[in-house]
Amino acid sequence: MLSKKSIKDVPESEIQGKRVLVRVDFNVPMKDGVIQDDTRITAALPTLNYILSKNPKTLILMSHLGDPKKDTQKAKEKAEKAGKPFDEAAYLDGKHRLSPVAAHLSQLLNRPVQLAPAALGEATDNMVKNLKSGDILMLENTRFHKEETSKDAAERESMAKELASYADLFVNDAFGTAHRAHASTETVAHYLPAVAGLLMEKEMLYLGKVIENPDRPFVAIIGGAKISSKIAVLEQLLQKVDRLIVGGGMAYTFLKAKGLAIGDSLIEDDMIDKAREILQIAYEKHIYIYLPIDHIVTQDFGPEEESRHVARGNIEDGWMGMDIGPMTIQKFEGALNGAKTVFWNGPLGVFEFEKFAKGTMAIANAIAKLPDCTTIIGGGDSVSAVNKSGVADKMTHISTGGGASLELLEGKVLPGIAALLDK
Ligand code: AMP
Repeated sequence: MLSKKSIKDVPESEIQGKRVLVRVDFNVPMKDGVIQDDTRITAALPTLNYILSKNPKTLILMSHLGDPKKDTQKAKEKAEKAGKPFDEAAYLDGKHRLSPVAAHLSQLLNRPVQLAPAALGEATDNMVKNLKSGDILMLENTRFHKEETSKDAAERESMAKELASYADLFVNDAFGTAHRAHASTETVAHYLPAVAGLLMEKEMLYLGKVIENPDRPFVAIIGGAKISSKIAVLEQLLQKVDRLIVGGGMAYTFLKAKGLAIGDSLIEDDMIDKAREILQIAYEKHIYIYLPIDHIVTQDFGPEEESRHVARGNIEDGWMGMDIGPMTIQKFEGALNGAKTVFWNGPLGVFEFEKFAKGTMAIANAIAKLPDCTTIIGGGDSVSAVNKSGVADKMTHISTGGGASLELLEGKVLPGIAALLDK
């Protein structure tokens, strides 16, 4: 499924002197025009440096940055509620324009990076035509055009054709948006020879390994807030894992399904039957699901709330589980022992609050210490948790796409990958 051509499979003669269009994921957190975290930009550097080393005629980059329409709507409503004035143009400039990204990339590559006024249109077209050999051009945020995410295929196609007219080769390195069939990710791949970038290739390699041939024992850890958003992945993982660890807010739905008292902990009542079903499948398949056996609980959701340590089944009404307890940490560490493949998605407690981050940090450290084990962190909050724990460099692979990595593990075909040339 994941054997797609990468830029490394393209003969040098098809890059040298050619116009190369790369879809990157430069959707970085941005505040008032200042990049808050450049991980996504540095993650694309291997691909960009590889292409540049083959002397293309021009390198054209495109990315989305936030969702201008939705984000503006939300920010406007928030300002209205607070009775504050809202300057839409300034908001868009500070949050959705790629100029700070182009400037930062220019520093990282040590080469000038020009910025086009838009991804489409006459001015951009002229700029593309006037590029000189060796020039790098970044197109403005693709999501300023409604065609990018349009449900109407003809609209996406018209945008994709225009983008494709800028180049001879298309490289998709934006794994984080590979689960979306957008004009600049999927549609454009139908109009040019299309291959994966090095980051996309690495994601396919490691996540593909989890799906297709994990070294055993294979242990998966699934945490986070909502069982409903991870039900499909839990069901898929049950077909593949040797052991499954469930923590975080979603564990309480499982505990309630087992008839245990969970007090005021996070619960999805409409998921209790599903949780019971999953426990039954695991039982029949002889797969052990590890659930918390003790908890750190508080009476209110906050960073400095007074907490108590209680055993499983002892969470009283008025109290909620915020983190796994020390006995659970030990139990989970034991479940990880000897693992040869670990996949982790979702924190095991409210790790954003220092006081309730102990369980998540302990498990990050336990994973980092596993000898000869392929450790894969599946995007989103687990990536921030691993970064916070200081052991990120001990992991085999940290995925750059939360939603995309989960959909891949659910067994879904990601349109952005499917559209690339087969090996
Ligand atoms: P997700 O996006 O589904 O991976 O969920 C991540 C969120 O789950 C983080 O913001 C955590 O704070 C939250 N979370 C983890 N454990 C708990 C818990 N016991 N109660 C409430 N939220 C939790």
